[in-house]
Amino acid sequence: MTKNKIILTGDRPTGRLHIGHFVGSLRRRVQLQNEGDYDKMFVFIADAQALTDNVDNPEKVRQNVIEVALDYLSVGLDPEKCTIFIQSQIPELCELSFYFMNMVTVSRLQRNPTVKTEIAMRGFDSSIPVGFFTYPVSQTADIAAFKATTVPVGEDQRPMLEQATEIVRRFNFIYGDTLVEPNILLPDNAACLRLPGTDGKAKMSKSLGNCIYLSDTAAELKKKVKSMFTDPLHLRVEDPGHLEGNTVFTYLDAFCEPHHFAEFWPEYESLDALKEHYTRGGLGDGKVKQFLLNILESTLAPIRERRKEFEKDIPAVYEMLRRGTEEARAVAAQTLDEVRRAMKINYFDDEALIAEQAKRFAQ
Ligand code: ATP
Ligand code: MG
Repeated sequence: MTKNKIILTGDRPTGRLHIGHFVGSLRRRVQLQNEGDYDKMFVFIADAQALTDNVDNPEKVRQNVIEVALDYLSVGLDPEKCTIFIQSQIPELCELSFYFMNMVTVSRLQRNPTVKTEIAMRGFDSSIPVGFFTYPVSQTADIAAFKATTVPVGEDQRPMLEQATEIVRRFNFIYGDTLVEPNILLPDNAACLRLPGTDGKAKMSKSLGNCIYLSDTAAELKKKVKSMFTDPLHLRVEDPGHLEGNTVFTYLDAFCEPHHFAEFWPEYESLDALKEHYTRGGLGDGKVKQFLLNILESTLAPIRERRKEFEKDIPAVYEMLRRGTEEARAVAAQTLDEVRRAMKINYFDDEALIAEQAKRFAQ
């Protein structure tokens, strides 16, 4: 029998999803879903993880669960083909995290570069919530509970996947082959690994307010693109422009496809030709931004339209989540049965153990 291919990814309900999620992970998920080359696909809303750095703002998390679910449906995730669920409703994930906590050291967690950056970003330097600090462990539980083999994520998740692999390996080494080591699936386009925010400073991130959301209106999108960071040295049209760190060109790398030239800017035949003109000088930022806007608008308009349709029946979206959660919980429960057996904590269903102890004490 060939090894099962199980795809799993999640997103934190800390805001609506943005175009960084789209190029970093969502687009790939939809593609994998539609190719159908997998046994199971799980997509989850990581509300328990969102609470690790939003403990005093449960309402924010609660409001964004439905926003993320709507974003999923609007990009084309199909509940008939993948199981969409809510993390906190699967207590088995907490249980597995608890056992995993013993398989990782504090210093190993302290070395995780993504957690380090996120701690600094959130101003947690002096008092880090334990739950936040250990979220890579709980994320390992999310992955391991579903025996995920394939995890399509952005590059910021690489240290998490390394951590997950180490924990799973250690578990299997100690308790015998039970869990499956996951593989990270990164975007193949470098611009999509970690899409910068519109300010050009850091990764586009819900927590930083530098996002273009999938659900932004056409007017919001236009405003954001027009005020995007470009090349501070490109003051006059005739000046040579620089591509390095120029967010407009990074977005073009992520979104521009050959057909967009025929559609929106036939003067150029390729992105290379456009870049060549820009670096030579004589091409203004305004025109390049307009091109980017046309591309983004043509990509996002259908997503926005689909979202409006799903927004008309919100109870149906919750019902879809409820069904997905029920299905996912059954899978996690099955894995936890195996985990408890491997860890020798399955006392009540181990008749051999009870008989053996009875015999020992009878002597
Ligand atoms: P938060 O600021 O709350 O952490 P976020 O914007 O980082 O939110 P997450 O829910 O943490 O979003 O990430 C969900 C998925 O999207 C992950 O796979 C992550 O790698 C990917 N992702 C997030 N931001 C980007 C980005 N700017 N570029 C590429 N991928 C991204
Ligand atoms: Mg994040």
